[in-house]
Amino acid sequence: MAQQIALLSVYDKTNLIDLAQGLQKAGVRLLGSGGTAKKIRDSGISIEDVSDITKAPEMLGGRVKTLHPAVHGGILARSIPSDEADLKTQAIAKISIVVCNLYPFSETISQPNCTLAGAVEEIDIGGVTLLRGAAKNHERVSVLSDPADYKEFLDAFTKGQGDVGQNIRSKLALKAFEMTAKYDDAISGYFREQYASAELPEDKLAGSVQRLALRYGANPHQKPAQAFVSEGELPFKVLSGSPGYINLLDALNSYALVKELQEALNLPAAASFKHVSPAGAAVGVELNETEKKVYGVDDLKEPLTPLAAAYARARGADRMSSFGDFIALSAPCDLATARIISREVSDGVIAPGYSPEALDVLAKKKSGKYCVLQIDPTYSPPAIETKQVYGIHLQQRRNDCKIDAKLFENAVTKNKELPSAAVTDLIVATLALKYTQSNSVAYAYHGSIVGIGAGQQSRIHCTRLAGSKADIWWLRHHPRVLALPFKKGVKRAEKANAIDLFVGGEELEGGEKEQWESLFEGPVDALTTAERKEWAVKLEGVSCSSDAFFPFPDNVHRARKSGVKYLAAPSGSVMDAECIAAADEHDMVFAHTTLRLFHH
Ligand code: 5GP
Repeated sequence: MAQQIALLSVYDKTNLIDLAQGLQKAGVRLLGSGGTAKKIRDSGISIEDVSDITKAPEMLGGRVKTLHPAVHGGILARSIPSDEADLKTQAIAKISIVVCNLYPFSETISQPNCTLAGAVEEIDIGGVTLLRGAAKNHERVSVLSDPADYKEFLDAFTKGQGDVGQNIRSKLALKAFEMTAKYDDAISGYFREQYASAELPEDKLAGSVQRLALRYGANPHQKPAQAFVSEGELPFKVLSGSPGYINLLDALNSYALVKELQEALNLPAAASFKHVSPAGAAVGVELNETEKKVYGVDDLKEPLTPLAAAYARARGADRMSSFGDFIALSAPCDLATARIISREVSDGVIAPGYSPEALDVLAKKKSGKYCVLQIDPTYSPPAIETKQVYGIHLQQRRNDCKIDAKLFENAVTKNKELPSAAVTDLIVATLALKYTQSNSVAYAYHGSIVGIGAGQQSRIHCTRLAGSKADIWWLRHHPRVLALPFKKGVKRAEKANAIDLFVGGEELEGGEKEQWESLFEGPVDALTTAERKEWAVKLEGVSCSSDAFFPFPDNVHRARKSGVKYLAAPSGSVMDAECIAAADEHDMVFAHTTLRLFHH
């Protein structure tokens, strides 16, 4: 066998001498780039300079050291006749070991005084080429990109009498590929920051950018923070305000939900998100006069458009939870919708567009700080999504399942009659669950979520939570609630809190009681148990969906207590038969689906 050649070109010279010694002892011919060769030679080991084989000196202040056919021909040549012939013609010797690590780009750019020119100089060209070339030809070439691997490599090399085996070469190649990928990531990340970012607020608002610097992450101490795409531009523009990290989590999840709602039901849709789950979501089903009062839009001057109806419902279902929400609209925001938004406490809105009058209203909210995002409705996210938890990348296919009427065709109860309004409600409930932190259960009525139980570890707790929210929502329709004698000047949010306390039935004491009573013109009697019962039975025809199967029939019984007539959940529980029997007992319609919808 011809003498093996190793090419060494390393920035980090850790363990270098031990490796050079070992290779020399094993009879390997050593070639090195400037500094690497000098260090090895200085310790008494003989090594040739790369320039001896390239016959070209290092040039451009080190920018070109190993970039030469004599080097890369020697690395990339396969053991096939045509490659061998090429090498012979050019008098190039094969290189079988490449030892290389790169200029410290990440460390350089993390220095506070790093300049653009300094960063540019720290971009390794030849080293990356050496690593890629050697890794590409790993069938024949060993590539050492990490000083921690030298010892193990030398042991295998000696044991295998100059052949470490394909398994080791393959693993080393993968490591080199990971290393160059990470290195390129750091470089593109740095230049994205320099050339394709908006540092909010003000400088590049309203333009499309690839990267958005965020003030902080989930909490103020989590800095730095950013949002970016690695290709093209972000699919949304910031028209006003400055979105935070959680705003974007809400905006992107909620827009996905309303877009799918509109596609499934052919009606404008709206969602009101808090902490990455919907507090409300609805399609534009017209509101009756009572609903207008309950949702606080009876005094609106503009007639309710279908989009405004959708948002009134989404926002009005759980006014307490929606306080400070992030809103998503499936259609361009019109003036009526903007007017509803403008008088609520809210963090921001995302929509595919805004009429000039609507934008005018929204841009004035929060003294101009209200976050208004415009998303490209044609944007389609990639099929694979990745996130990182505790340093580990987790990757999955995006949950791109379609939810439509077909999902609810398998009625497993005696009663199989599913009216079209119930199908609409089941679609709304089920689609909302697709974007709700699991476990989750949702109740829907008149095209709107009326109670949602999110993020509970036990299913019955979801069903109870959603049920108690639906009960509160329904009690808000009670004539005595609608007639509560609020004093003039009581704010909308104060009213919502006061109503919540009233319908919640909690006994108030001391200062809290005094404060509550001070909101009214006169004394207000609590709702009696009899009044509550009498009112509860008037609610009928509610739909309920669950993101996974009901493990016990208690869920069915609990849902029934909040007026649920139509149920949808995946099958698969050992208690399926008992759950169906419970639904039959109440003459409910229960559709078994085959779709689990966990969301995290
Ligand atoms: P040395 O200390 O041996 O002079 O340089 C080693 C460093 O140079 C290594 O980090 C290696 O990745 C890098 N390197 C090797 N060849 C080239 C080249 O042709 N151009 C540039 N810019 N860097 C190279």
